[in-house]
Amino acid sequence: CGIVGYVGPQPATKVVLHGLKRLEYRGYDSAGVAVPAEGGLAVAKKAGKLANLEREIESSPLPDSGTAIGHTRWATHGAPTDVNAHPHRSDSGRVAVIHNGIIENFVALRRELQSSGITMTSQTDTEVVAHLLGRELESGSELAQAMRTVCQRLHGAFTLVAVDAEHPGTVVAARRNSPLVVGLGDGENFVASDVAAFIEHTRDAVELGQDQVVVMTADSVEVTDFQARPAETTPYRVEWDL
Ligand code: GLU
Repeated sequence: CGIVGYVGPQPATKVVLHGLKRLEYRGYDSAGVAVPAEGGLAVAKKAGKLANLEREIESSPLPDSGTAIGHTRWATHGAPTDVNAHPHRSDSGRVAVIHNGIIENFVALRRELQSSGITMTSQTDTEVVAHLLGRELESGSELAQAMRTVCQRLHGAFTLVAVDAEHPGTVVAARRNSPLVVGLGDGENFVASDVAAFIEHTRDAVELGQDQVVVMTADSVEVTDFQARPAETTPYRVEWDL
């Protein structure tokens, strides 16, 4: 439902939680964040309001990091529980992904993953994406290429945002039939499902086109299609107010 990602010098978890609050008006049933940092990838997720997630993070703090991704979920597949909340992780825990929309062919993909020995921990359509990304990373791809390869296998509607524990300063996102906008900051960058998530930080934005992938660090933003061909981007200025 709501998606926010951040890379930059600010405390990333705080920026992302604040961004998620700006998207609360859309409604949601659970929330979660993933933070890649030295020593691995930490995830906190909770059914219910953002306040539940914030309480959870207060009692078990996440590592300091300049990178975080966060999600508010509106369940379509699987009950609104802690386990089904996003982010979802690959088996090894190396990659975490959040998702808006519906992966229509998730049953076939889940069967394929299960027959290769992977155990599903949630009832969501989203979890297959985490395992597919994990498999690509294990076979040597970088996250950006893993995302492009995996997106070519997905049917339906998706905004996906992922992080890789081994490259903590990079966020990779993709979209098809579901919105994704990049916020261009000065030494920091954002992705979100809606500009409301970041306009307190920057009003310079780029809308991703259909079937595009963005690779974002604190000081770079690269957009390609699912075949890795560079895409033209047209930055615009967000003029409306919260
Ligand atoms: N289909 C996914 C799920 O049920 C994502 C729902 C959403 O867009 O929040 O977990």
